[in-house]
Amino acid sequence: MPTYEEEYNSLIESTKQYLMQQADLFGNIIYTEEQKQAAPQGLKFSSVYPDEAWTRSASLDEQNGQICNCLKCGLGQTRTNFVFGVGNPNADVMFIGEAPGADEDAQGIPFVGRAGQLLTKIIEAVQMKRDDVYICNILKCRPPNNRDPEPAEMETCTPYLYKQIEIIKPKFIICLGRISAQWILKTNSSLGGMRGKVHDFHGIKLIVTYHPAALLRNPNWKYDTWEDMKMFKRLYDEMKA
Ligand code: SF4
Repeated sequence: MPTYEEEYNSLIESTKQYLMQQADLFGNIIYTEEQKQAAPQGLKFSSVYPDEAWTRSASLDEQNGQICNCLKCGLGQTRTNFVFGVGNPNADVMFIGEAPGADEDAQGIPFVGRAGQLLTKIIEAVQMKRDDVYICNILKCRPPNNRDPEPAEMETCTPYLYKQIEIIKPKFIICLGRISAQWILKTNSSLGGMRGKVHDFHGIKLIVTYHPAALLRNPNWKYDTWEDMKMFKRLYDEMKA
């Protein structure tokens, strides 16, 4: 009969293996059942930071002005520039990535490097202009060396994104890449499992596609991205009809 210590070690080992398997499949974020339940119950910025002036902002400019010196997580210490978002404040469509990169950190504008230029082409491929849409990230400050965002950083920064969504009131959200989509949808699904369908985010149609930086590394995924954008455009045109 195994001793208590052997049983304990065996449990630790099987838990470790399970977590490593999940990380291989889905990345480093694992959601609890409570977190999965939390998203549909309402945008949570006001309950997270109830007394802060920015939660009462009536415009994006006002919100930006009130949070641009944020130091709520460690990324505030290492950023060059705060990267709020760019585009049409009344956009029907919001593109949301995970975090600024080096070019974005240098300029204070999201998606301006090579990946950003590709995003502009993707937007133009569905007969829209970059100025028609709104583009931002979950994190407003660059993680050092472009590492993946930490869950705690996203938890801290997400209320700002929710407030942007509340002000813009988009009809569509297009999540760029696995990290953005998993975080916003509160799911551990793979990118493949999230693509090709229309999700609901508080009444907003949400579509998932590849991050343009991933397309630069793997051009073969451009075909699937085109399929995602065609699906979006069909739904968009139906809404406008
Ligand atoms: S990443 Fe977000 S929470 Fe962290 S310092 Fe920047 S704005 Fe603040």
